[in-house]
Amino acid sequence: MLLPQPWPNLENSSLSIAMPSRPLIDTEPDTPPPSLDGDVTFADLGISPDLLAVLTKRGMVAPFPVQALTIPDALAGRDVCGKAQTGSGKTLAFGLPLIERTKTAKPRRPHAIVLVPTRELANQVAEELTPFAAARGLWLCAIYGGTSMFRQIQALRQGVDIVIATPGRLNDLLERGEMSVSAVKNVVLDEADQMADMGFLPQVERILGQIEGETQTLLFSATLDGAIRTLVQRYQKDPVRHEVASTQATVDTLEQRFIGVTSESKIEIASRISAGAKRVLLFVRTTHGADRLAEQLGRTGLRAAAIHGRLSQSKRERTLADFARGSVPVLVATNVAARGLHVDGIDVVIHYDPPEDHKVYLHRSGRTARAGESGMVVTLVLPIEERDVTAIERAAGIDVAIVRMAVDDERLLDLANWDPPHGLPEAASYSRGRTSTAPARNGGGSRRPARGGYGSGRGGYSRR
Ligand code: ADP
Ligand code: MG
Repeated sequence: MLLPQPWPNLENSSLSIAMPSRPLIDTEPDTPPPSLDGDVTFADLGISPDLLAVLTKRGMVAPFPVQALTIPDALAGRDVCGKAQTGSGKTLAFGLPLIERTKTAKPRRPHAIVLVPTRELANQVAEELTPFAAARGLWLCAIYGGTSMFRQIQALRQGVDIVIATPGRLNDLLERGEMSVSAVKNVVLDEADQMADMGFLPQVERILGQIEGETQTLLFSATLDGAIRTLVQRYQKDPVRHEVASTQATVDTLEQRFIGVTSESKIEIASRISAGAKRVLLFVRTTHGADRLAEQLGRTGLRAAAIHGRLSQSKRERTLADFARGSVPVLVATNVAARGLHVDGIDVVIHYDPPEDHKVYLHRSGRTARAGESGMVVTLVLPIEERDVTAIERAAGIDVAIVRMAVDDERLLDLANWDPPHGLPEAASYSRGRTSTAPARNGGGSRRPARGGYGSGRGGYSRR
């Protein structure tokens, strides 16, 4: 029986392009791998009873690995440099210690700032942390661009203890004198690699440069190379480095498929796969492409919407809420939505346009199979894209073959139960002829029982 490849470990050699073999910050992560036998509790990590009560109420019984690793050091006041994938639970890893250590602030002089790359993420972090902050009588506020400054200014004037912000808008407010970072004692940089990719580092540095006095800085990123390494060296003091190579829950539950399509069949195939999913996220390259695909999928009878950077903030929020609620089960997104964003229960991610590289593949794919749920990732591949996609697979340590399928291929209706062949064409001697082609219909692949998730219980991925 063929099993899907494990979720690639970012430390493995196939990713050495992104990861210089020389150690970047310290020689070794500071702590041995945590005991992940499930015995550690949040109380063991040092979380106080009032916050424990909120965790219990939210059904969070055991800390995730990144939390078990970083919370004790963060509570002790150390700078922490954490490398972890999306979906690993970083928000509480920094959020709980932050709330434990934050004091009530004076108006316009918050005690803590959390910098994030996107407005969606700012909202999500604020939402996830609000019940914990409320238990302490602390105020937090999400601050981001694309929306009126007025309410943010009002909130700051009334007094916000923890500001969760995108760097651009925060700088605007600092320049207007509506906020000062002079009293900031705790700084979090979340998804630092994405902030770097989006060109925000000068903005981040402008903010960090204005902070006076001693601070604790927690930095989280999927990669710690290049620009992130510089950030760590400039703004962290003797950081403890922790690394969670992959979220174990994700490894076991992600199914990957690579389907060869033509420009004529692509939309119909995407539509058939989407129709069988409970909540599906499709990724495209451009804003225009997102709008167009949502419209085209709509014409095939699906309730689909698009989300990208050109929409107004209120429209983005409405669309995300509809998607989270399930009233719009098909969402077409540009890479803006690829990272950090958390919506529960996305059972299928479709790379409608292939990702630019393996990092984008991993981050987009990380939108499903979060927090131990199962999920499937489908990449649609035009003939001329086969070579690039194979290269991406190789870089990500995946060897699932691209299998061409026609619109009426029955395997499309039950991709979860279809075992794709493994093995990639050799890089040097690549030719189109060597790609596995679909043996007529239902020809290939052994069948195996669904592994929970699709088609079972959740009204999810199943034969119609
Ligand atoms: P990341 O920031 O690493 O992408 P998140 O912090 O968004 O991941 O967490 C992913 C999901 O897991 C969220 O829905 C979050 O509420 C949930 N989660 C986090 N920690 C725990 C925990 N200890 N137990 C159960 N669920 C958790
Ligand atoms: Mg996060």
